[in-house]
Amino acid sequence: MRLLLVEDDPMIGESVRQGLRQDGFTVDWTRDGTEAELALGSEPYALLLLDLGLPGKSGLDLLAGLRRRGNGIPVLVLTARDTVSDRVRGLDAGADDYLVKPFDLKELSARIRALLRRRAGRSRPQIVFGALTMDPVTHEAAYRGRPLVLSAREFMLLRALLEKPGSVLSRAQLEERMYGWDEEVESNAVEVHIHNLRKKLDAGFIRNVRGVGYMVVNVP
Ligand code: CA
Repeated sequence: MRLLLVEDDPMIGESVRQGLRQDGFTVDWTRDGTEAELALGSEPYALLLLDLGLPGKSGLDLLAGLRRRGNGIPVLVLTARDTVSDRVRGLDAGADDYLVKPFDLKELSARIRALLRRRAGRSRPQIVFGALTMDPVTHEAAYRGRPLVLSAREFMLLRALLEKPGSVLSRAQLEERMYGWDEEVESNAVEVHIHNLRKKLDAGFIRNVRGVGYMVVNVP
């Protein structure tokens, strides 16, 4: 899952980025509201973590603009402002949730997972598709009742394919979901991960749609 973090405080930004990466998220970090707007227009983020006091453009203005343009990305506001009227303004501007600084990284991670789950229309934390189950909290996965040993990237790739089962994701779309701005992507990384995943699952579970990309298929 690729997230955009907009935070101008270097200490908070770095610790949030590190903590969320350890929890298996891909995190791009920008310190500026205007830059954030550009990034949102060009990358497929699953969620936005938004500070309110920012250089360039304030978090509230950025959020109001997104919603005006019909962008429904889940937004979690991170802010030191914690009067009731600030919270109400943030939520009224279109925020989905609100966390007041200083916050615990574990709580942030849990709230992100809850928002993503709600967005995907799931109320329980496990992701289930056919014989595959994945737990985004513990990063455990099982296929036909057997535990799967997956690398962090393999887990991300499989999770990306399971976000919308039945739709095809191109190699570029998978790369975008798995790698952040500052991460080098080997040219055949996706193919290698797919190859390894197929050995761990049924060969037909991930189908290659020639010239288009990859999709998951429910193998009976
Ligand atoms: Ca700030």
